[in-house]
Amino acid sequence: MMDISESKRLAERSARVMPGGVNSPVRAFNAVGGTPRYIKKAEGRYLYDEDNNKYIDYIGSWGPMILGHNDKRVVSAVKKRIESGMSFGASTRLETDMAELICSLVPCVEMIRMVNSGTEAVMSAVRTARGFTGRDKVIKFEGCYHGHADTMLIKAGSGAMTSGVPNSLGVPSGCVSDTLLAVYNDVKSVEDLFKVYKDQIACVIVEPVAANMGVVLPEDNFLQSLRRLCDENGALLIFDEVITGFRLGIAGASGYFGIKPDLVTYGKIIGGGMPVGAYGGRRDVMSVVSPLGGVYQAGTLSGNPVAMQAGIAQLEILRDNPDIYDNINALGEYFRRGIEDIIERYSAPCTVNGIGSLLTLFFTSEKVRDYNTAALSDTAIFADYFNFMLDRGNYFGASQFEAVFVSSAHTREDIDKTLSDMEDYFKVR
Ligand SMILES: *Cc1c(COP(=O)(O)O)cnc(C)c1O
Repeated sequence: MMDISESKRLAERSARVMPGGVNSPVRAFNAVGGTPRYIKKAEGRYLYDEDNNKYIDYIGSWGPMILGHNDKRVVSAVKKRIESGMSFGASTRLETDMAELICSLVPCVEMIRMVNSGTEAVMSAVRTARGFTGRDKVIKFEGCYHGHADTMLIKAGSGAMTSGVPNSLGVPSGCVSDTLLAVYNDVKSVEDLFKVYKDQIACVIVEPVAANMGVVLPEDNFLQSLRRLCDENGALLIFDEVITGFRLGIAGASGYFGIKPDLVTYGKIIGGGMPVGAYGGRRDVMSVVSPLGGVYQAGTLSGNPVAMQAGIAQLEILRDNPDIYDNINALGEYFRRGIEDIIERYSAPCTVNGIGSLLTLFFTSEKVRDYNTAALSDTAIFADYFNFMLDRGNYFGASQFEAVFVSSAHTREDIDKTLSDMEDYFKVR
């Protein structure tokens, strides 16, 4: 067993002064038990904890670190920038550069507004859709996570799924009374809502690839049908691309699937590891945002120059090196094949879902295609597996319902090592 005494000490100190000892619930390891590892530094594909244990990192800060940690090109751009000041509360060239860059890379984005997190991006995009359409109701899907804005905290995925409390305390019923729930990959559930709430639905928000109930792929025509239903009913389609943006390819899921949403939300990758989010889309829709239009939205630190610099540096590397996507997608495929092979050889009651550099190993042999099938997973076995893998230096998300993220810093050798540990697990169990 690894020595984790320093992490243990830190966990005890943290628990006294922070709720659950953390600033974001999944970090507390409640779903898997054991001691969260306090990370001291990271380099490439590795994380190092306070006890100097080394892990192959399959989270990449939940997505942002697509180039691996501490990429020298990004870090040196940030270092240089920071010497000119950390925040001005006034417009900068970098914000224009960032907006032009995203608009040039993603065809469905004609105008964009930078914010500070994915949560803020979603909250603002939904407000914009409501402002533009003059309607209140919003359709979201069970198991899709869109951050922790009040309206979205109903049958959410991610931490809200493992804690077993899909609806948070402190969210007044009025805040979610206009949030309608549909079933992922079930077009009829959406059609029915459009019939019942005719001319009242402002938007449909969806993770084009769900990645917060574990990775769940959109089935044939699911996204196309959402596009059609929105068009027929005068509602807007919002792709929440906080994970898929700049990950499934330079134009994200909308580019990958060839579907144009009206609005799109970003976070994670676009900040290069800094706290950044953004929402953008059709020019006419974004024109209702203040000060051009009547939908208010603001931010003291929005478009922060250091954060913009980190994001621009990372996005430019991705733009200029398309082989990065070929590489990480191939690694993802290699990883999934390896897992499938192990499942078959050991008749493990598991299934693996994935696309590009994303995947999830579910501890259920059912096909996982929505919230209910994801929830069939045996989370107790997942917890056991997680701790076995962690102790051998494989760092996964501490919940069954998270994704594995492959970065361009990973190698086949890393994945072979992880697969071999995985095989040991299924051999013994
Ligand atoms: C992470 C995530 C969010 C929330 O982003 P934060 O930066 O954590 O607020 C929203 N939507 C999706 C799809 C996410 O994965």
